[in-house]
Amino acid sequence: MYDLVLAAGNTLPDMRNGGIDPTELERAKVMENRDKELLDHARAVRDRAHAPYSKFKVGAAIVDEAGRIHVGCNVENAAYPLGACAEATAIGAMVSSSGNKIAAIAIVGGRSKLELCPPCGGCRQRIAEFGDANTNILLMDENGDIQRYTLAELLPLAFRLDGK
Ligand SMILES: [Zn+2]
Repeated sequence: MYDLVLAAGNTLPDMRNGGIDPTELERAKVMENRDKELLDHARAVRDRAHAPYSKFKVGAAIVDEAGRIHVGCNVENAAYPLGACAEATAIGAMVSSSGNKIAAIAIVGGRSKLELCPPCGGCRQRIAEFGDANTNILLMDENGDIQRYTLAELLPLAFRLDGK
């Protein structure tokens, strides 16, 4: 429960009412459900991954600035460097649907079972192109344990043409 409150805003709980603010708790539950829904989309699209070489299937689901969800999976190629990451194909789907900004992205991957699958370095930069320091990145392992990061945590000092 304490974790839920922290996840909602990274603030310490109000100690009145035993430290639980009902409004905050409700908000945390809504966010938790949204995170799980986005992760479910990532899991579903992972099944369609084309990964005959690495056998490492990845699914990614983005919620954009309008609340729309866009999904992508990794697409490998016999010429290995031509393979595309799930995050990249999900971003392509978002842009193709006129989405402009990544509010959150969920990523799941693994061979037989889900392993914690943080985005590769290149994809962190791809996410930065359509996100900001507070963009949420959600990861989940086989046990259903969810890890939440901001882009700033995973890509400090991101490259930007304007230097900002
Ligand atoms: Zn990648």
